[in-house]
Amino acid sequence: MNLILLGAPGAGKGTQAEAISAKLGIPQISTGNMLREAVKNGTELGLRAKAAMDSGALVSDDIVIGILKDRIAEPDAKNGYILDGFPRTVAQAEALDEMGVQIDKVLEIHVANERIIARMSGRRVCEKCGASYHIEYKPTTKPGICDVCGGAAVQRADDAPETVLSRLEVYEEKTAPLKDYYWETGKLVTVEGQEEVADTTKLVFDALGING
Ligand code: ADP
Ligand code: ZN
Repeated sequence: MNLILLGAPGAGKGTQAEAISAKLGIPQISTGNMLREAVKNGTELGLRAKAAMDSGALVSDDIVIGILKDRIAEPDAKNGYILDGFPRTVAQAEALDEMGVQIDKVLEIHVANERIIARMSGRRVCEKCGASYHIEYKPTTKPGICDVCGGAAVQRADDAPETVLSRLEVYEEKTAPLKDYYWETGKLVTVEGQEEVADTTKLVFDALGING
């Protein structure tokens, strides 16, 4: 099964991708996590991506399409994957089509902007493994420590309130058109993001026809 998760920053794509990944045994492929990893390691790619990411802008299509293409060629992606944060522009969606990738479903997680802004302030991510948390809705067992790997769960620089607003604008302008793009293929399903992570997961599994 090849899935795409669509949704504004902070809508909960990463969290739901982790749940689907655990359920189906297929990898979550998060371009955001891969880019953050590159920035942390100071690779050339990371250096090229950093300024755009910190300001809440998109990294160029060339860069992102390149890393995505390499990633889906890895052996663990053979039986399917969950794309989390890709495609984010129509050009990226077209590139995916040109690669011959067959998409089974595109799941949009919809959350109103006001709720997104409130949520982002509590979001934390593990510096080491990328696992995502929320201080209220999905806290780590020990404060600030990743349950998965023991790394530090910290706030992302681009989750600062000013940056969140511009990321939402970028989403509306560049990424929201993908809803029409995939609506036309008949593959788009939309679920309403709930307060509780588990409630959203249930809706997500239902929408994908996975038995909870
Ligand atoms: P969120 O979904 O919360 O916005 P991500 O972790 O998916 O966060 O992405 C963080 C940042 O990484 C984005 O704001 C953008 O700068 C960059 N990025 C991630 N994926 C893409 C993509 N497919 N195209 C362009 N930039 C991307
Ligand atoms: Zn971790």
